[in-house]
Amino acid sequence: MGRTVVVLGGGISGLAASYYLSQAPCPPKVVLVEGSERLGGWIRSVRGPDGAVFELGPRGIRPAGPLGARTLLLVSELGLDSEVLPVRGDHPAAQNRFLYVGGSLHALPSGIRGLLRPSPPFSKPLFWAGLRDLTTPRGKDPDETVHSFAQRRLGSEVASLAMDSLCRGVFAGNSRELSIRSCFPSLFQAEQTHRSILLGLLLGAGRGPQLDSALIRQARAERWSQWSLRGGLETLPQALNAHLTSRGVTVLQGQPVCGLSLQAEGRWKVSLGDSSLEADHIISAIPASVLSKLLPAEAAPLARALSTITAVSVAVVNLQYRGARLPVQGFGHLVPSSEDPVILGIVYDSVAFPEQDGSTPGLRLTVMLGGSWLQTLEARGCVLSQELFQQEAEKAAATQLGLNEPPSHCLVHLHKNSIPQYTLGHWQKLESAAQFLAAQKLPLTLAGASYEGVAVNDCIESGRQAVARVLGTEPNS
Ligand SMILES: Cc1cc2nc3c(=O)[nH]c(=O)nc-3n(C[C@H](O)[C@H](O)[C@H](O)COP(=O)(O)OP(=O)(O)OC[C@H]3O[C@@H](n4cnc5c(N)ncnc54)[C@H](O)[C@@H]3O)c2cc1C
Repeated sequence: MGRTVVVLGGGISGLAASYYLSQAPCPPKVVLVEGSERLGGWIRSVRGPDGAVFELGPRGIRPAGPLGARTLLLVSELGLDSEVLPVRGDHPAAQNRFLYVGGSLHALPSGIRGLLRPSPPFSKPLFWAGLRDLTTPRGKDPDETVHSFAQRRLGSEVASLAMDSLCRGVFAGNSRELSIRSCFPSLFQAEQTHRSILLGLLLGAGRGPQLDSALIRQARAERWSQWSLRGGLETLPQALNAHLTSRGVTVLQGQPVCGLSLQAEGRWKVSLGDSSLEADHIISAIPASVLSKLLPAEAAPLARALSTITAVSVAVVNLQYRGARLPVQGFGHLVPSSEDPVILGIVYDSVAFPEQDGSTPGLRLTVMLGGSWLQTLEARGCVLSQELFQQEAEKAAATQLGLNEPPSHCLVHLHKNSIPQYTLGHWQKLESAAQFLAAQKLPLTLAGASYEGVAVNDCIESGRQAVARVLGTEPNS
């Protein structure tokens, strides 16, 4: 009888793991188990009444670096090239990003000239932050918070305005709690290897295997900053599902895993309510804290480590305004916690992807709400109504972008525990999980956003790396 690998979770990580398993020269039998009725996890795109696309989760994927190229290769392998909507390097959505500070929008400086000029909200040209980085000695701690790292290397203003906003934009998190080593490994590594972020990023760039395809070459030649798909990013998990089914992978939906137990011969029993599956190996692509509750008693130390990897909630409000115009053109703006504890940022969807606007001339925006404000409300057990999020989002669109008319269409979703938080010392949790798995020779491999990157590219790569470990193949091939 052939080997069976069961993949837990049909988000992008579990779909990618199943895909790479199905592509192996001698693929094992693969069963993908998804608890909900749909695949894709946080990737979800819905259509408005006029055909406009509204992304409830991710809205853009970065093509840069080896992981960006790997995802573009996957897109081509799935036959989606003609669906790709790029944001080219000369487009305003690639060039302009803003911070909302002191009641107004400020363009983030770009290029050498931008760094030499005074650029509000920063009191001095950012050149000085660069000089500080070049002259600051290497840190000695094995990990540090993002805030402390940025303050030490780039100064207080960059730490409390730029890095605070970036942590809110990417992780909906607090830069004073998040780990530089795990959240921004390239910055951490740059300091470790070259003693400076700037030198590290300059000298370390371009390493790693160079993947090649027509789409990758086009993305490089046109300097894409990000891309989406015509019908929304959910097209990607849908195409993966169609491919998996055609390759004989069993895809179960609406079947939450409710327990895992080890049998005498070292195989797993995967309990699914009133039925069960047997597996020689499990790839888990469900959140770490969910997995921690499913593990058997023999794996208690692993369960303890995984249970400490928590996640925060984000409220996503998609707004459409008929005939409205933005005061600036760009990707969007971020809001530091000192300016507004409620709003993380606003993405100007229509600027980056006008092809997704639908038949109504107007504007699509997404307001992201979260951070400590939402954590406090959740901790107090407050009723989190759709009206509350809609009101806050419309207020932000009016105050921060001057959109005073009511929107013509609005969608509100609270994504509970959607973004994992890599807090200080996250790397130690990963090490202790890896050590336990190796010492116990447990046939279990971890993948997904809980571990080494939350971006879609990171999640796809985590699925691919998990498969390389299961099959004993070279991960960089
Ligand atoms: C609002 C938002 C905006 C984002 N924007 C971007 C962006 O613009 N660009 C970008 O690159 N990234 C973005 N991200 C991050 C990225 O989308 C996610 O990190 C990624 O989609 C997570 O994928 P995953 O497969 O690891 O996890 P998930 O999507 O969480 O998938 C896990 C799956 O496991 C299933 N599951 C859970 N428990 C069980 C169980 N017991 N049994 C079976 N199945 C189970 C769940 O139903 C789910 O389908 C965003 C995330 C959010 C929330």
